[in-house]
Amino acid sequence: MGLLDGKRAVILGVANEKSIAWSIAQAFKREGAEIALTYAGEAFEKRIQPLADSIDAKIVIPCDVRSDEDITTAFSALSRQWDSLDILVHSIAFANKDELKGSFLDTSREGFATAMDISAYSFIACLRAARPLMTAPGATALTLSYYGGQKVFPNYNVMGVAKAALEMSVRYLAEAVGPDGIRVNAISAGPIKTLAAAGVGGFNQIAGVVQSKAPLRKNITQEDVANSALYLCSNLASGVTGEVHFVDNGYNIIGL
Ligand code: NAP
Repeated sequence: MGLLDGKRAVILGVANEKSIAWSIAQAFKREGAEIALTYAGEAFEKRIQPLADSIDAKIVIPCDVRSDEDITTAFSALSRQWDSLDILVHSIAFANKDELKGSFLDTSREGFATAMDISAYSFIACLRAARPLMTAPGATALTLSYYGGQKVFPNYNVMGVAKAALEMSVRYLAEAVGPDGIRVNAISAGPIKTLAAAGVGGFNQIAGVVQSKAPLRKNITQEDVANSALYLCSNLASGVTGEVHFVDNGYNIIGL
């Protein structure tokens, strides 16, 4: 018997087989969930389709979260195939590369708006679009954050501000949809080498510090995140909402 038997999960943010969202999709499938995937634009469809096929995900739909129209179209497409949705996973972030190096003081108005729009606002917009489908008991939403939303890290810059907004949105959303029985949480993951992480200047330096200072003396893997996502999105976490849960081998508890 799987932890997610009979549940339906839509997962946003699989770019390739290194994506955190991909490990989550695989773990959810393993535990019995039916999976739908979305991808950012036509150019990415070719990359996603073989991954979707390998986990028997029959619903693969485009959704560029910058567009309200895309979000509406994606969730109406989903509602034509599924009469209810149990789990929404949002594993999406973006900032212009120029903003992820140098001084935070140089953050541009446009760069700030882009990072906030794609990395924070989109979670609100997607949950709003998903909510009419999330009617079954135990429905839940999950997003991905990073410690750079709570403390200052070199080069993380505007993405840190976006993650702070995302984490606070988790709390406000948890309150907004809690009366409907929907839980909302975030995982704050330690650094993992993915496409998105490659955009952050000095990523290797950050990963090196975590390896030497984290209580468990190693970096986390996508599977570590996926296993915690499994807990948070299953009925095991039925009393947990509005949380930002660290999956970082304990790095965040260290002062010096
Ligand atoms: P990833 O594989 O590059 O995933 C990022 C995803 O965001 C990609 O699938 C990307 O799609 C998608 N995306 C960007 N702009 C989009 C848009 N406008 N519309 C729809 N999708 C869009 O990297 P990842 O590390 O797994 O990142 C997933 C999440 O984990 C992010 O929120 C990230 O901040 C968070 N996180 C990562 C780390 C880490 O060290 N890797 C640590 C903590 C938290 P395309 O590539 O197809 O555009």
